[in-house]
Amino acid sequence: MASLTIRDVRTILTCPSGSRLVVVKLETSEPGLHGLGCATFTQRHLAVKTALDEYLRPFLVGKDPDRIEDIWQTSYQNSYWRNGPVLNNALSGIDMALWDIKAKRAGMPLYQLLGGKCREGAVIYGHADGRDPHEVEDHVRAFVEQGYQYVRAQMGGYGGRGWRSFLSSDATPRSLGRIRGEATDHPIRPAPEGALPGSYYDPRAYALSVETLFDHLRSQLGFDVELLHDVHERLAPIDAVGLAKALEPYKLFFLEDPLAPEDLEWFQMIRSQTTTPIAMGELFNHPREWTPLIANRLIDFMRMHISQMGGITPARKVAAMGELFGVRTAWHGPGDVSPVGHAANLHLDLVCANFGVQEFGGFADAEKEVFPGCPELRGGYLYPNEQPGLGVDIDEEKAARYPPFAGPDSWTLTRRPDGTPARP
Ligand SMILES: [Mg+2]
Repeated sequence: MASLTIRDVRTILTCPSGSRLVVVKLETSEPGLHGLGCATFTQRHLAVKTALDEYLRPFLVGKDPDRIEDIWQTSYQNSYWRNGPVLNNALSGIDMALWDIKAKRAGMPLYQLLGGKCREGAVIYGHADGRDPHEVEDHVRAFVEQGYQYVRAQMGGYGGRGWRSFLSSDATPRSLGRIRGEATDHPIRPAPEGALPGSYYDPRAYALSVETLFDHLRSQLGFDVELLHDVHERLAPIDAVGLAKALEPYKLFFLEDPLAPEDLEWFQMIRSQTTTPIAMGELFNHPREWTPLIANRLIDFMRMHISQMGGITPARKVAAMGELFGVRTAWHGPGDVSPVGHAANLHLDLVCANFGVQEFGGFADAEKEVFPGCPELRGGYLYPNEQPGLGVDIDEEKAARYPPFAGPDSWTLTRRPDGTPARP
């Protein structure tokens, strides 16, 4: 192949579906040949843009884009103070774009370059929610009718029935009380006088409501559909052990993030108490977080957010490690991953022998407009197109029609019933 250099690194911010997306466009010395990467850290998008524009761009312009491993390692080490969500996301934007370019130069979809398919599409799970178990059941049934085999079931979003949002002006934390719902009559503890606005949740009421929910779902739906649940690290560690144990009869496909990254030593407790399969990892940045969990076989699914860990280069390494230890992949795939990032998830899904399941909530029409070539969802599976590279491009003119909003994300302001700040 002819020699090539990186001509420019551009950061594109867009918000076509309510999440602020950060996309890197890496241009090369070959006219028209560019790569795209996802660098989305939606809550701190401008910090990532600064890292890219002010530090990685000057570091990389003029370098050889074929040297992906060398660029990853030197970019990671060049700041001396390495790792963390801002720098890892910025590096992911570069890394995915380099893989995109290499596959385009090879004239093949990225999955071919990574070893070729071992499945035709990635089986995905949808998100069923509802205010009570009956609504969740209806929602799960709707997914099954569309061909889904895997459905994540939550009640009242994260925090379940223990959750009440008081961000609107017509409600106050004092209005917390006993929340009654069919089969979910669990008390929510009241907040003290003068409690500040925020999203309040009650961890203990939540944990009880999850048992009620899965008891209902399995009694009504049977065991043919695979059910998942995300605790979102909202419990005290010992309560997480208790919930994982209590849910064992309902045979979840996995229970996600029962513990926070700060409580990793507690995974051993869960493992010793129950066979409920455990998924973990969307908040992980550093190899020291996932390595012991995989090497000690304390989790069953790795859930890392690929841009958060630094891109395709580290993801393929940890996927290979997981294969050796019997841990499957279930890459994080929420709305604050750009279609470029979802395509990266998918290309890895197709080539990894130890793929488990892929989270995917669909693309909004505006996203499909801004990102031509989005992967397609059919019958519960996600499929890539056959274009060289990641297969997804960006229409910059259309992207500019959806500017990102300013200010902090509101859903991340969360409190426990007495008003104590809590993890979102
Ligand atoms: Mg999650």
